[in-house]
Amino acid sequence: MNKENIERDNKHERALKSILRRDGKWDCLYPGCIQKSIFSHAISKSISLATIAENGHLTTVESRRNGNEKKLQFGSISVQDATAFNGFCETHDALFASLDNEEITSAKSLLLQVYRSVISECVNESRLSKLSTAGFMSLDIEKTIEQADTVEYPFLLEDEGKELFKSMFAKMVAAESQRSAELMILPNQILERLDIPGGNSLEGGSVFTTEQLSHYIPYRKLSFQMPVAVNCIIPTVIGGENRDFYFVVIPYEKSTLIVGVVPKSSDQTLLDTLMQSFSSDAAAIDLVESLIVSSNEWYMTPSVLEEIPYNKREVFLQDSTFGDAHRFYERYEMTIFDNLRKALAQQKPELKPELRLEDSDVIPQRESFDVRHQRMIAAICAQPFKYLKD
Ligand SMILES: [Zn+2]
Repeated sequence: MNKENIERDNKHERALKSILRRDGKWDCLYPGCIQKSIFSHAISKSISLATIAENGHLTTVESRRNGNEKKLQFGSISVQDATAFNGFCETHDALFASLDNEEITSAKSLLLQVYRSVISECVNESRLSKLSTAGFMSLDIEKTIEQADTVEYPFLLEDEGKELFKSMFAKMVAAESQRSAELMILPNQILERLDIPGGNSLEGGSVFTTEQLSHYIPYRKLSFQMPVAVNCIIPTVIGGENRDFYFVVIPYEKSTLIVGVVPKSSDQTLLDTLMQSFSSDAAAIDLVESLIVSSNEWYMTPSVLEEIPYNKREVFLQDSTFGDAHRFYERYEMTIFDNLRKALAQQKPELKPELRLEDSDVIPQRESFDVRHQRMIAAICAQPFKYLKD
């Protein structure tokens, strides 16, 4: 790597940190506010994260650079940092005070939580998208073509090939820039509708929906604590269209609230499958396990992860890394919270048949790390070429 590249890499790394870690340079997200944001939680630290932490810490997955390779591994995170983002100023963060003081029991507080979670994900994604747009724009495209490996890309020897490459590149930059703007549409839509639900209380499990929202909000309250918090966005491309799904899992001392934010325009089969996940406690546990293998935005009680047998943990980590073995709306073939499942089967024998206790020893066979890694790299490299089709 030459000096110029190293410098560009370091600059990129600093910009990434400024988005994902505490940085007072960002403006408050509340429309019209010009104060600087504080680093605040998407999921309440005081009544949720703290109840599953040990010594003020949780376990999560983090990506570590190893030479030129990035690898996922389990790591520890302070409750101060878990789900925190550079979002609102102190004044506007007070909008969420009720979520830090009492468990969510009304449709109104559910929607407020959805706003907080969705905007935390959207703003990070949008800033990352802006960063990669800027990265693309700073490339000298003529120079890039000149320096390209023409053995690997022989079409770059021809004028026609060069023009094609340039137009494909321009489309990719435009798509990235458009995405960064589009991501902020949903949080703003929710903010304008925060008052719609009124004081209606939530039942055990159902779907909050209104014509005025582009998304369904299925939810389920479990009467026991799951030892994990999730605040995630799962971007998908289905039939050439971007669809972003959001999920929130909030463990309280003696209960757990699971929430989805699902585009109404999703495929009907996918919608049916997802809604099924909110229809029973056992299905909801399956969903949470599926979500943590599909997103890296979860925070678990450290001793719970340590109790999982080593072989299972390794398969889980690799499946999280490659995302090729599992789709978020389907049941994950391996169970993760086996001790919770066992304890529940004793407390609530009526749930036993659904708790998949017989699956606790199932450890799926996977291809080797290298084979899966090669395939992932190939898929990433093929990505820009999808813009050639238009
Ligand atoms: Zn503000």
